[in-house]
Formats: sequence, C-alpha cells, structure tokens
Amino acid sequence: MRWTKLTLPTQIMLGLITGAIFGVIANRLGWHNFVVSTIKPVGTAFVKLITMVVIPLVFASLLVGTASLNDIRKLGRIGIRTGVYYIATTVLAISLGLILANVIRPGASLPDETKTRLLESVSDDMEAKIDQVRQKPSLKDTLLNIIPGNPIEAFAEGKMLQIIFFALLMGICLTLVPTERSGPVIAFFEGLNATMIQMVHVIMKIAPYAVFALIAAVTADFGAEILRVLAKYALVVLLGLILHACLVYSMAVKVLARTKVRSFFKGIRPAQLIAFSSSSSSAALPVTMECAEENLGVPREISSFALPLGATINMDGTALYQGVAAVFIAQVYGMDLNLGQQLTIVLTATLASIGTAGTPGAGMAMLVIVLKSIGVPIEGLGLILGLDRILDMCRTAVNVTGDASCAMVVASMDGRLVRENQNAKTEM
Ligand code: ASP
Repeated sequence: MRWTKLTLPTQIMLGLITGAIFGVIANRLGWHNFVVSTIKPVGTAFVKLITMVVIPLVFASLLVGTASLNDIRKLGRIGIRTGVYYIATTVLAISLGLILANVIRPGASLPDETKTRLLESVSDDMEAKIDQVRQKPSLKDTLLNIIPGNPIEAFAEGKMLQIIFFALLMGICLTLVPTERSGPVIAFFEGLNATMIQMVHVIMKIAPYAVFALIAAVTADFGAEILRVLAKYALVVLLGLILHACLVYSMAVKVLARTKVRSFFKGIRPAQLIAFSSSSSSAALPVTMECAEENLGVPREISSFALPLGATINMDGTALYQGVAAVFIAQVYGMDLNLGQQLTIVLTATLASIGTAGTPGAGMAMLVIVLKSIGVPIEGLGLILGLDRILDMCRTAVNVTGDASCAMVVASMDGRLVRENQNAKTEM
C-alpha cells in the first residue's frame, strides 16, 4: 500500500504508533538526546505553524459569526431558543469535561520526577506565565483585563480574550451599520476566514510526521510510562462524549421534544457516520439536514436555520474535549487550577468552540486560546497531538448530534415537529 494513497487519519495513526515504538526503543538505547535534538524540531515546527494561524482565524471567524447574528434577530423566537440551547448544552459539555478531568485526574498519575523534568523543559517565557497564574489575579482584574486598552497591542501580544472581546464587539457593531458600509468589511473577513481554514488544511499535511516526531521525543525522553497517561486522557474524553450524548441529548429529546430517544439516535446515525469519518461538521451538514428533515420530522424552515448555524458555532464535543485537554495538560505540568481558572476555561472554551470552524483539527488549534487564557504552556499541545485525530472523529460525531437535537427541540417547542415523518427513512 503506497503512503500517499492512505487517508490523513490513517497516516496520523501510523505516525503515532511508529513514533511511540521508536521512542520507547530510543529510550531503552539511551538515544533520547539525539531524538530530542534532531527529530523533535519537526513537531515543534508543526505546533508553531498551527499557532501562527490561530489569531487571524479566531478573529475572522468570530467576527463573521457575530455579524451574521442579524439573521438570528430576524428569526426571533426560533433564533433565541436555538441560541439558548446551543450555549446551554456547550456549557454543560465543558462542565462535564471539567468534572471528569478533575475527578479522574488523568494527568496527575505521572511520577513526580517525570513531572519535574517536564516542568524543567518549559522555557523561561513559559515559567513567567505559570508564575503569573500562580499569583491569581482578582476577579475584578480578570474581568477588566478582557477589555483591550489597545487592540493592536492585544494582537501583537496574542491576548486571546481581548482579541475575542474586540471581535465580538466589532461583529455586533457591523450589524448596526448600513449594509453598503458593512458589506465589504464582512466580505473581507469571510475571505480571510476561508484562507486561514485553507492554511490549516495545508499545515495538516505534515501532521503525520509531526505526530511521529512529537510522540517519539516524548517517549524517548520519558519512557513508556507517559503512554499510559495519554491513554487515560483519551478515555476521559471518550467517556465524557458518551455521557454527554446519553444524558444531555437523550433528556432534551425525551423531555423537550417528547420523542423516543432510540428514534432520535437511529434517525441521526447517517450524519454521525459522515461526521465521524470526515471529522468535519461542515462536510456532514448536508447529511445532517437530510436526516433532520427526513428522519426526525424537523421542518425545513427550522433545519435550514438551526443546522448551518450549529455546524458553525455549536460544538459541544469540541468544547468538552477542550475542557478535558486543558486540565490534563495543566495536571501534567503539575499546575493546580483554582476555581477562577476553571471558570475561565468554561468561558474561553465556550467562545473557542463557537469560533471553531467545522473542519478537521480546528478544535485543537482553538485549544491554544484556552491554554493561553489560564497560562498553561502551549507546548503541552505536543503531548496530545498524536491522539487528536481519533478524538476529533468522535467529538465531531457528538457536534452534529447536538445540532440535530437542537433542531428537533426547537421544532417541537414551536409545535412544528412532523411526528409521522420520524424514522420514515432511517435506512438512508
Ligand atoms: N472537527 C470538528 C468539527 O468539524 C471541530 C474540531 O473539534 O476540531 O466539528
């Protein structure tokens, strides 16, 4: 089988497995210096490339997303219900992720000696950031710090919360300016957004090699022990995703849409499969719409509004994953997050998941925002990168399930759910 014929997820999985085996062997043979100095830079370059895209991507996508709030207002009641459902389920997802990560503590089981060495490998710049977190600024200062005194400075220094605040405010103001004036600005940022998404796709091409390099460097340096910790982390994310789907969506469908939970999951299955195999809510959107209309009985007026909006801004699976990943990386670095920092995760992961494009790997790039907001070293991304694609597949399936559950709940509350259509054609 030729390497180029393999799909990207397969290449990444192969990079992960071979990198881990190579790293463990290198560790036994005492080659870790060689691996860290010559192979790891490939992975470091990848993390830097992804980080490079984040600020323009976040700014453009949040601004374009907020500027389209116009339509939400037009849609009145449906818009408000959809927005409330999306935000509420996202916050529930992150909270569930945080609870699981704090209770199971997947990153804390590393031996102290390994943790100390990990911390030592953090650059001076990062240490300053960790110190800042340890100083625990007051709630008042944290809130005031969200407002950028100078937006250009916020961009230059990569202050994510300030950038998000500026993007949201600018997006809202664009909806208040006449279309002749706002149109070109929105079109420019739509173009920028599309270009940045394309850049992520181009960068993802080196992901298999980066995954090999990063996981090899980690295992060569720290031995096979770190793999056990990573497996625990992946299991926490998966457990969270399953619980969220089983508890939150099932309850919503049963109580709010008064529909059988089984019919819902059966009806949405084709969309879940496309989302799982493509890792893209946007790619799955046409199938999600078809499932919602044909199998779940959602009328077109509601599905055509709620589902494209959901594919852009509603990512419960992504938000849950970001919460777990942030706490996990903090635990690995031996940082104990206080309540304020956990609340910051809820806030930033909500915003980050809204700003995440429905494309493969976008959620991981946006995780940088969450990490930065609580001062956790973004180098920690290197630890979880290898597992990202497989988790992306699972969280994307949850993302589209959340969108469909919302369309169903909103349609039912509006008395417009066509119950006789439910499961008419589940064998799509
Ligand atoms: N791939 C996800 C989606 O399209 C986004 C992410 O979490 O990376 O829904």
